[in-house]
Amino acid sequence: MTGKIIFGGAGDLPISPFTKGSMVFNKTCAWRNIKPVIDINSCSKCMICWKFCPETAIDIIDGRPAIDYDYCKGCGICAAECPGKAIKMTAEEK
Ligand code: SF4
Ligand code: SF4
Repeated sequence: MTGKIIFGGAGDLPISPFTKGSMVFNKTCAWRNIKPVIDINSCSKCMICWKFCPETAIDIIDGRPAIDYDYCKGCGICAAECPGKAIKMTAEEK
């Protein structure tokens, strides 16, 4: 198979385990040098970013994605997968 698979929303993706698990003791934010910022006005609330985040660092609050910067490692997967380009990776402030 070649090319990118396009998902309409998180409901199109398989069910997967979703917990911070042992990561609550290992704040992966220490690895980050760029961070994702969501433009909530451009967000369709599809929750694909929530589904793809490998650190379970995106929570759903009031039906919207919210990044937990204690655990976001700045990998950029959420920004790459966001169909509406609502997530921009920006330089981390130190
Ligand atoms: S930020 Fe992007 S991927 Fe995440 S819910 Fe909004 S539109 Fe979907
Ligand atoms: S940059 Fe990576 S770790 Fe951070 S919220 Fe996006 S997908 Fe998750």
